[in-house]
Amino acid sequence: MGAGLAGSVLAERLASKANKKILLLDKRNHIGGNTFDYYNNDGILVHKYGPHIFHTNSKEVFDYLGNFTEWRAYEHHVLASVDGQLVPVPINQNTINTLYGLNLSSQQVQDFFNSKAEKKDQVLTSEDVVVNAVGRELYEKFFKQYTIKQWALDPSELDASVTARVPTRTNKDNRYFTDTYQAMPLHGYTNMFHRILNHPNINIMLNTDYKDVIDAVTYKSLIYTGPIDAYFDYCFGKLPYRSISFKSQTIDSENYQPVGTVNYPMSQAYTRITEFKHLTGQKHDKTSIVFEYPTAEGDPYYPIPRKENMEIYNQYKTLAASEPNTFFTGRLATYKYYNMDQVVAQSLTLFKKIMQAQLHLYNNEMVHSSNGIKIS
Ligand code: FAD
Ligand code: UDP
Repeated sequence: MGAGLAGSVLAERLASKANKKILLLDKRNHIGGNTFDYYNNDGILVHKYGPHIFHTNSKEVFDYLGNFTEWRAYEHHVLASVDGQLVPVPINQNTINTLYGLNLSSQQVQDFFNSKAEKKDQVLTSEDVVVNAVGRELYEKFFKQYTIKQWALDPSELDASVTARVPTRTNKDNRYFTDTYQAMPLHGYTNMFHRILNHPNINIMLNTDYKDVIDAVTYKSLIYTGPIDAYFDYCFGKLPYRSISFKSQTIDSENYQPVGTVNYPMSQAYTRITEFKHLTGQKHDKTSIVFEYPTAEGDPYYPIPRKENMEIYNQYKTLAASEPNTFFTGRLATYKYYNMDQVVAQSLTLFKKIMQAQLHLYNNEMVHSSNGIKIS
């Protein structure tokens, strides 16, 4: 259930490697989950649910998806609008030199950070991560307001893992990610999904909430990739997810901004603006951009990493483990702030586990039948 990456990867593996018959349900009117892209009215390829940039250190994941798409090499660059200037994020040597009008070497930037850093015995929160590395001034310029907008929480109330996604550097590397493999599906994500799901054993039903049909379907196993709290009718309470309102615009000009994304960590209500043509490489005499306005209402996009939420999730996880024929995978069903590559890796691992469990069952059957106690 769920035609995003988690559900589609498992559907493909089970159909093509285990000859299973798959019914793939999604309540939306399209495949691809949050990675869905399409050509808008002006013929520009845009991402419906905000910018999706593929990056991974896993050769296995990159090669797996490479079976279903050609790649376009793309390294994402982000600038932040701070004190009236556009400077690179993550904070690096160029950021410091531009921001303060300096010409520091890499070592001098490290010394600068050391002189500002508030060293913590324990780095527990998203505030700790940044002030421990670069001090309070840069924390306030780049992280504090952005994080409050994005999560409606102060960084001190969020796990360290959130701002640790954007680690500070002392070199001049202006790329947003440093992963080994950084590329975009050449013909877009939706095209890649059509190829992943193009198998005679896979039937797809869109516009269908699984709860409306599940009782009418006969099945051996259910793979669930929606919000885990919804599956269990919120019996331990609602898990908080953060949503975003995306406001798109097409501009009658070839370019809008110098890089794929510009972050607005200060006062604006939106967090960032992305111009899709940088990501897709499309040539067009107009350009499309999207503003992201974080909100509490709407589709669940981001699990919120903090202790009290993990405690609720762990209760659901325990319950989930007691359902032998239902498997939970993906960003919503395992309440993990996962990137696309991590979701693919998680589903590939689950596929292997399901196969091993089947083999184990089969071997047991063989042992039992040779003892004359056949179990089927
Ligand atoms: P989803 O894509 O959410 O798929 C779950 C599917 O289940 C949905 O299609 C939903 O409609 C369906 N569903 C839910 N409930 C039901 C129901 N009751 N009945 C039927 N269907 C149901 N990752 C990156 O690697 N790089 C990025 O740049 C990046 N940018 C992102 C930007 C934003 C704004 C967001 C929100 C996420 C971003 N991600 C990025 C993360 C990426 O989107 C996820 O890791 C990935 O798409 C998760 O796949 P999934 O299949 O687990 O979930
Ligand atoms: N962040 C920030 N300022 C920035 C970039 C990121 O404060 O300029 C923080 C913010 O809390 C954000 C988190 O770091 O939610 C992770 O950033 P990332 O770009 O990975 O977010 P995503 O692309 O997943 O929305």
